[in-house]
Amino acid sequence: ETVAYDPQNVFARILRGELPCNKVYENEYVLAFHDIAPKAPIHVLVIPKGAYVSFADFSKNASDAEITGFTRGVGQVARILQVDGPGYRLLSNVGKEGGQEVPHFHVHIFAGRALGAMLP
Ligand code: 5GP
Repeated sequence: ETVAYDPQNVFARILRGELPCNKVYENEYVLAFHDIAPKAPIHVLVIPKGAYVSFADFSKNASDAEITGFTRGVGQVARILQVDGPGYRLLSNVGKEGGQEVPHFHVHIFAGRALGAMLP
């Protein structure tokens, strides 16, 4: 099922500078910023600059350069946050049953406490 990209979603508005964010890192491929409602001591969102609804859309339709840029960007953000040593969790919710609320692809980085075993 193809879901059209909504250019008025909150992360699109952040990317355009129409809404503020607490920025961690930015390059030509990604923007990373603190989650407005953190669920861990460190809770950062990494988004691609391209208009992709979800991981499903991104993995299918993004260019190799965008996919590489995004993947390396997530790793760079983890290094900036200095969570490589203690460790962290990456999560991406996809679609309705995946619990995705904002329809612009994003990866959550959770860190800063022992996160425990993987949960569904
Ligand atoms: P998901 O779509 O993966 O369920 O989660 C979306 C995440 O975006 C939530 O953790 C929520 O707190 C965060 N969020 C929603 N609106 C904003 C916003 O305007 N600014 C920031 N920084 N985070 C937001």
